[in-house]
Amino acid sequence: MDLKENLKRAALALREADALLVTAGAGLGVDSGLPDFRGNEGFWKAYPPMAKLGVSFVEMANPFWFDRDPALAWGFYGHRLNLYRRTVPHNGFRLLLEIGRRKKGGYFVFTSNVDGQFQIAGFDEDRIEECHGSLHHLQCLRLCSQDIWEAREVTLDVDETQFRALDPLPRCPKCGALARPNVLMFNDWDWIPHRTRMQSERLHRWLEGLSRSEAALAVVELGAGKAVATVRMTSEAAARGGKATLIRINPRDYDVPAGHIAIPCGAEEGILKITETSGT
Ligand SMILES: [Zn+2]
Repeated sequence: MDLKENLKRAALALREADALLVTAGAGLGVDSGLPDFRGNEGFWKAYPPMAKLGVSFVEMANPFWFDRDPALAWGFYGHRLNLYRRTVPHNGFRLLLEIGRRKKGGYFVFTSNVDGQFQIAGFDEDRIEECHGSLHHLQCLRLCSQDIWEAREVTLDVDETQFRALDPLPRCPKCGALARPNVLMFNDWDWIPHRTRMQSERLHRWLEGLSRSEAALAVVELGAGKAVATVRMTSEAAARGGKATLIRINPRDYDVPAGHIAIPCGAEEGILKITETSGT
């Protein structure tokens, strides 16, 4: 592994690409100061009251809590919504957006993060697929309709010592039942998927168009670990054509299929190093 050589190759691939696909997993947000939920240790460090309850991330990110203990469920998601709202996306976002905007084939984002950080950083809402939904959108817990609405008007007051949300909790405007985030949780059969499906269709139409015009595609993948393989699979599928290059930026799981480029760095550092290398 020759990092310098890989940075040069990545810079060249980015410069020569006609279009940019950014794919992102949980590791992307770490450089903006967002907590890493990897393993129970990371989760419990970010949420000490959950350690006291002995509840893991997988157990907490479960729709069951909205019935069993709504204040705890909204304490967890409300705390995260408040955190994501006040987080300033790191410089890597801005650099990628600048590159994407200059491409004649444009850009698209595929992310498993529900934090809305790409929109906050200025990426076009119509050029993002959030495969696990978004915490900035809500749906009815009782599924009285298939409506998904923006959480913009919602404010959540969370007692940070207990991670419990104070009343009033978000309600469905149609039936008055409790609302929940339009986020795909574990063991979640009630997640309403149509918003994500529309995003997915747009991404596929864009990729088909690029393929028809034989455009060169650069896929920049950031912080996508092996635990949830969706993002890595999407990057590799998109980069399978002859005119596509995958640039995988990851401090741990940076191995790539033959012919593609590994950058063993954190997300922000990796992007900075590539752009410094090329002057793109
Ligand atoms: Zn309802």
